Amino acid sequence: MAETGAGFPHLFTPLTIRGVTIRNRIMSTGHETAMAGPEGISEQLIAYHRARAAGGCGLIVVEVASVHPTATFVRHSIKLYSDETIPGYRRLAEAVHAEGATLFAQLFHPGREILESIDGSAPVSYAPSAVPNERFHVMPSPMSRELIREVIAGYGDAARRLQTAGVDGCEILCSMGYLLAQFLNPRVNRRSDDYGGSFDNRLRIVRELLADIRAKVGEDMVVGIRISADELSPEGLTPEEVGAICRALDDEPGLDYFNVIAGTSTTLGGSIHIVPPMTVENAYLAPRAAEVKAGVSKLVFVGGRINQPQQAEAILAASQADMCGMTRAMICDPEMPDKARSGRIDDVRACIGCNQACIGHFHMGLPISCIQHPETGREAAYGTRAPAVKRRRVLVAGGGPGGMKAAAVAAERGHAVTLYEAGPRLGGQALLAQLLPGRTEFGGIVTNLERELALAGVEVVTGTVLDRAQVEHEAPDAVIAATGARPRWPEFDGRDEAHVVDAWQVLRDEANVGNSVVIADWRCDWIGLGLAEKLARAGCRVRLCSNGYMAGQTIQQYVRDAWLGTLHSLGVELLPLVRLFGADAETAYFQHTASGQAVLCEGMDTLVLAMGHDSVCDLADALTDWPGALHRIGDCLSPRTAEEAVLEGLKVAAAL
Ligand code: SF4
Repeated sequence: MAETGAGFPHLFTPLTIRGVTIRNRIMSTGHETAMAGPEGISEQLIAYHRARAAGGCGLIVVEVASVHPTATFVRHSIKLYSDETIPGYRRLAEAVHAEGATLFAQLFHPGREILESIDGSAPVSYAPSAVPNERFHVMPSPMSRELIREVIAGYGDAARRLQTAGVDGCEILCSMGYLLAQFLNPRVNRRSDDYGGSFDNRLRIVRELLADIRAKVGEDMVVGIRISADELSPEGLTPEEVGAICRALDDEPGLDYFNVIAGTSTTLGGSIHIVPPMTVENAYLAPRAAEVKAGVSKLVFVGGRINQPQQAEAILAASQADMCGMTRAMICDPEMPDKARSGRIDDVRACIGCNQACIGHFHMGLPISCIQHPETGREAAYGTRAPAVKRRRVLVAGGGPGGMKAAAVAAERGHAVTLYEAGPRLGGQALLAQLLPGRTEFGGIVTNLERELALAGVEVVTGTVLDRAQVEHEAPDAVIAATGARPRWPEFDGRDEAHVVDAWQVLRDEANVGNSVVIADWRCDWIGLGLAEKLARAGCRVRLCSNGYMAGQTIQQYVRDAWLGTLHSLGVELLPLVRLFGADAETAYFQHTASGQAVLCEGMDTLVLAMGHDSVCDLADALTDWPGALHRIGDCLSPRTAEEAVLEGLKVAAAL
């Protein structure tokens, strides 16, 4: 059925491929969720994709699945080389189709890009040639011709299983340095047989598996490939090489589309583009897609930080691509397509590119979610708002992300909610986080939550500290204490002798920082990295002394790795594995956390503390004997991050 969407005429134009009509041009690209497993598609994964389909997504491409036993790259890889996976895909297809969306599925072999061991022992990885992987330190075994034939047949068999399950299409990963990209790359494929050497020989495996798929599924199933337009790595495929590959494959009658992305799993610099963080420009791959499109006759899809429907509409209007991948946009707001279609653009909860709970969870082996929308991945428990059984009066103290989420959800359920914020505006520590270099977009979490408060009808009182007297005066049924935290100033020798400031003072430009700065970084997160960049850009000599294995140890790896590259460019000195134990006017004294030996930072003007936070519990402490229901959430309960604060806000409000 054709959709409308007054402000988005291109975005809501259907697309028909091989008789399969996709209702609009919004695609959830294939992405790992850690919700499936060797047993196949789980009910959790079905609920996750059903929510995106119900929110109006046109095309859902479900995550990679192994086409052969040698294609297991993480413990929870789906074994699409077994018929046992068919019932799960069938349930997924039925759920997605029932909501009006189209379902494709990715066919995958990682080659040498093996992330995890299955049983603790190092797995054997197989690739075209014995050329090592830099990022995972894997030396693969060259594939025999027999194994190549098995893998080719595995693609065709897997596609047939998908077709049997009712999946509308399949997408072959030639992207991001995985097996087929390894074959295509003359610096990785060093074979001397007819699968290596010449351009046509390197393309042979792709052509043969396309033919095998088509022979096994017939003409009805859509088949596409995903390809990195630029692997952005020293030995990676270049735009010129990829352009030539796409033009050559454009002649393949069995192929329907190219899905353009960038980067490679093989290097730190290349892997950042698998899920680019907020420092990467929105929709940055649209020009790359346009270059591919100029050389081919088939459809071209594109992804890469397309966060807002306006960006997607512009790409489509300019004919840079035929379909836009907006994966995180819908991890963050599953209803984004319907909101755009119905003109509720201001209600879209825009992804901020933080990578914390989506790809960040995946790298921990845990189901993906979203720091702004923790309902993601928890659809069974929190996918719908149960109306309150009894309307209660609720006061929320603290207008950071946790308090805002709690207030919004409680009000959505029908409670009468007032949110008190001591400061002049809402946002809490998110207002500070957005001051870190390259983190301006983090402030979007405040904008989004302010909108949710307004839509839910929360009364907001700023510039007022909620105290016990006010609580007793208002006599609510429940108080949610989300009063946050303040910077921790640990005791150490010489604290009064040295020039010591804290991270918040630096971010607010309240500190008169000297030329030579030492940062004591206990949390190993964004704060230490961001302070180092800010001060280095201001011309300071910066030594970033981290308590962990590396600066940024506790944050999502693509965010950290991009930042480490920036700090290297700026000449920041990194000292890992040190703990602060003292300072004087010119020296900061650390101990190595393993040897206990002294590590001195001499010639220091200013010591900046990024030593974590202490909870602010004044209200909660004052209400310990108050007879109403008292709930503590977020940093007030235990200093952590916005993700936990928002999740706890949701949980508390959902249970009121
Ligand atoms: Fe976007 Fe961050 Fe949510 Fe991931 S966790 S979807 S990057 S807002």
